[in-house]
Order: sequence, then structure tokens, then C-alpha cells
Amino acid sequence: MALLVVGSVAFDSLESPFGKVERTIGGAATYFSVAASFFTHVNLVAVVGEDFTEEHARIFERRRIDTRGLERVPGNSFFWAGRYSVNLNDRVTLATELNVFADFDPKLPEEYRDSRYVFLANIAPTLQRAVLTQVRRKPRVVALDTMNYWIERTPDELRQVLRHTDVLLINDSETRQLSNEHNLLRCARHIFKMGPKSLVIKRGEHGATLVDNKGVFCVPAFPLEEPHDPTGAGDSFAGGFMGYLASAGNTSDAVLRRAMVYGSVLGSFAVERFGLDRLRTLTNREIQARARHFLKLTQFTL
Ligand code: AMP
Repeated sequence: MALLVVGSVAFDSLESPFGKVERTIGGAATYFSVAASFFTHVNLVAVVGEDFTEEHARIFERRRIDTRGLERVPGNSFFWAGRYSVNLNDRVTLATELNVFADFDPKLPEEYRDSRYVFLANIAPTLQRAVLTQVRRKPRVVALDTMNYWIERTPDELRQVLRHTDVLLINDSETRQLSNEHNLLRCARHIFKMGPKSLVIKRGEHGATLVDNKGVFCVPAFPLEEPHDPTGAGDSFAGGFMGYLASAGNTSDAVLRRAMVYGSVLGSFAVERFGLDRLRTLTNREIQARARHFLKLTQFTL
């Protein structure tokens, strides 16, 4: 089942206690689509500038990622720079240059308009909505990510698109900010009134929590001795989660739980090396082996 994603394809300069890289390929839609492509066919909608070369395009084209919706325009691609603290939990944004993203007006290629699964990565809610309105039939699952910037600056536009969202995937501080509540279960109840039927709270090294009308499901983060760079962990989680959902073709409780595990698996691989490096060499066999490891991590008897 085709999975549509709209979001940033970017160049990132990243610094952590483990090293530094300059202008490596990144962006939420990049991490998402590479992670999801292990499970399903992905339709990518984004914009890049002249600094995005054929070699960069091959990252997508070697996989099940359709780039007909990747617009190329004069100028530079979105650029982001960030630095992580010693514990890798906190980061400061050193630069955000919208560049070609400033005038992005997404247009879905005809072939994308029947996508049944949609992921609206973290970009302006008006752009998320613009993409969604071009999808012909009501999708089976619309998932959305956002951040404090949009929660604070464009709350009305965000509310608009949330009304058409099934699954909201955000981190814990964004969850609290959006709902004006502290307790995460109360947050979820508040958020369900805005539209989403499921809430996936990404909690970094503490794993992720799914809340819906069937209850609560928690998945741990895979214990890693030496994570190098958390950039894109959340987007890779979303890619594993949505990629698996699209491949399963239904949203039963068992499928959603497995999607949480595959999300955590993909997120854990993403942080092992800088930028996209680890996902680029990842294999299906490694994904399945780690998923089995999650079984061992969480099994116990009473
Ligand atoms: P994450 O670590 O999940 O927050 O995602 C990091 C990725 O998001 C990086 O590769 C950045 O290029 C991209 N990014 C950072 N800030 C923004 C923004 N304001 N809008 C869109 N993408 C962004």
C-alpha cells in the first residue's frame, strides 16, 4: 500500500560528543521515507535546491521511494544545524535556513493522489493541509508530526489539520504543550477531542507510548551502549511505524503494537551513527533480528 509523505529534505550540520559532520543529507521526510521503504512503497513530496545532486537522489531511487513529487527549484535546499549535549538528550538549534522551503507550494503528482496512508511530517500546518486536500479519497490513516514552533505560532492552522488526522506522533513536551495538561493520559483525552483517535508519544531514550480507545501500550527504546547522533530518531520511528502499518493493511490492536515495535527498531538504528549513515547500510534481516530482541526485552512471566 503506497504511503505518502510530505516534509523536509535538507542538509544538516550536526555536532555531538561523538563527532561532527557538515552538510550531510537529512530532513524529516528523508529519514521517514528511507525508514518506511523497508516495509512499503513511499511517495515523497518535498522541495530541494541546486545543491541536491544526482548522487543525493540515488539514496531514494535505489529504494522503493518515488521521487516524482520531489520538486527541484533554483536556490539552496533547507539547511539545519544542531548541537547535542553530553547526554544526547538536549540539543540547541544553531541554524535554520528555510531557503527553497520558504516558497514551497506542494503539488501532488497525479499518481500520488490515491495514496491510502499519509504522513504529514513536521512542516507548516498550512502545507500539511494543502497536501491532504489533494489526496482524492479519504486515506485509511493520516498521521501527523509537529513541533513547539507551530503549536505556538499557528495554533489555528494546526487545529484545522488535526481535525483530519487519525494518529498524532509527537514527543512528550509537545504533547503537554498542545494540550495544556501535564499528565500524559489527560493530555491524550484532550488531544482526542481535537481529532486524532490515537496518540503516539515519542519519549527518546525512554521509548514510546501509544494511547487510543483500547488502552495504553508502551515500547522501550532499544538499549544502546553508544548512540552517536539522535537526529532523525523521531522521523525514523514514524517511518517504521507508518511503513509497517501500510504493509499490514489494517489497524487492529496487534498491528498497531507491532508498528510501535518497528518504529522503535528503526529509531534505534538511526541513532547508531551520524545522519543517515546507519539507515543507508541497514538490511531487512537486521530489522527482524532487532524486532525479535524487543520480544526478549519485554517478556516476563507471572
Ligand atoms: P528530529 O531529530 O526528529 O527532530 O528531526 C531532525 C530533522 O528535521 C533534521 O534532519 C532537520 O533537517 C529537520 N528539521 C529541523 N528543523 C526543521 C523545521 N523547522 N522544519 C522542517 N524540518 C526541520
